[in-house]
Amino acid sequence: MAYKTTYPYTGEVLKEYDNQTEADLESALATGDLLYHEWRDSPVADRAQILHKIAQKITANRDDLAKAMTYDMGKLFTEAQGEVDLCAAIVEYYAQNGEKFMAQVPLESPAGRAYYVKQATGVIVAVEPWNFPLYQVVRVFAPNFIVGNPMILKHASICPTSAQKFADLVLEAGAPQGALTNLFISYDLVAKAIHDPRVAGVCLTGSERGGASVAREAGDALKKSTLELGGNDAFIILDDADWDEVKKVAPGARLYNAGQVCTSSKRFIVMADKYQEFLEALKDAFSKAKVGDPMDPKTDVAPLSSKSAQEKLKKQVDSAIAGGATLVYGNGTLDSPGFFFQPTILTDITKDNPIYNQELFGPVASVYKVNSEEEAIKLANDSSYGLGNTIFSSNREHAQKVAAQIETGMSFINSGWTSLPELPFGGVKNSGYGRELSQLGLDAFVNQHLVFEP
Ligand code: NAP
Repeated sequence: MAYKTTYPYTGEVLKEYDNQTEADLESALATGDLLYHEWRDSPVADRAQILHKIAQKITANRDDLAKAMTYDMGKLFTEAQGEVDLCAAIVEYYAQNGEKFMAQVPLESPAGRAYYVKQATGVIVAVEPWNFPLYQVVRVFAPNFIVGNPMILKHASICPTSAQKFADLVLEAGAPQGALTNLFISYDLVAKAIHDPRVAGVCLTGSERGGASVAREAGDALKKSTLELGGNDAFIILDDADWDEVKKVAPGARLYNAGQVCTSSKRFIVMADKYQEFLEALKDAFSKAKVGDPMDPKTDVAPLSSKSAQEKLKKQVDSAIAGGATLVYGNGTLDSPGFFFQPTILTDITKDNPIYNQELFGPVASVYKVNSEEEAIKLANDSSYGLGNTIFSSNREHAQKVAAQIETGMSFINSGWTSLPELPFGGVKNSGYGRELSQLGLDAFVNQHLVFEP
């Protein structure tokens, strides 16, 4: 595969990078392994100090990092700035809480004295996607830095500039060589790295196909893996929902990042008596959303990340319509060299429609009509994915009761999806396994080493 920055607004190739070799991988593994052994004898507090500096440097380079992301994968510059701010907050969170999270854990046993200590395990390979080029990396890099696990990064081939900028920034902030090594390598070399004895585990965020492939290698090599995969999140509007809030939140829950978010609300589930009103409101908002230049602060919807993403989405929407779905709005790709996709609304998606169980990674909303809460819950759960969901109700207990019945890793009440440093992120079913962020994310690749004395 070729690592290159192709600006999705113009289709122009801005920068190309040479693929790296097996010798580059060997050098990264050797440096990472050396650092792992050094870090085993050094205090967590020392690494926390460096993380503080990395957080400051991220903030100081806000616009430069944001611009790299916009040019790599097309996201709105304002959204990219928000992503940089979130990343600085995540790094700072682990800098501040790292020592506490790594503290010895006492255990109660009638048979004697017991506790466990948390220890680093070795080099971790991170395989990351393009939709949040900085955030996806930071949410695994910062906790593993605290633990003392050096990281080798294989980022998406369409966002090499963002990847390299962040890796350079980490070193400039004072991190030792090997703490984060970005490599432009092939899938074969990723597999080779996973099998290397110096590597303790692999984390991947991306598609089911990519996840299955990497997890297969990890299984063969008996290495731990975590997977953050796709989603088909439901946005459930209960009969006691605050309608002003619903209308305010729903369009953004789908259109943010041009709809390319694993936890975007993709399936809107509405009670029959409010269905038409919701559809009109969504259509009104989608038709007013300005699609265009990602650097223009007045733009609402950016281009998609690549030509192939645009083509794939067009095919999926066309197949949905051919399969009996009704096109309520959109499905245009705009007469432009940019990889645009018009905000789109589909209804009447039956169980046998080809997209019923597919993730549509772009600004396409599927709206479903149901006759009862029970039916809404059943529909929300009728998915091979289990990442997140949103529930709207003006009664918190009611919403919590429904949340408990949805088979996902996350539920958001009266809000669209969100991600904060202290909240665990991840799913069940085909959305993957393991959690990132919070203390759970830090524990992903630690050795919980028991010490027992009868
Ligand atoms: P993808 O094709 O799986 O790519 C993701 C990363 O995996 C890229 O770096 C890709 O490299 C690499 N990759 C793919 N197959 C590989 C293999 N066999 N060996 C080694 N590396 C491999 O995913 P995508 O379609 O670009 O990303 C969008 C997907 O990510 C969506 O499904 C979205 O829902 C999901 N996502 C999930 C979360 C979450 O937290 N659950 C968050 C964001 C996105 P190349 O770029 O070189 O192909």
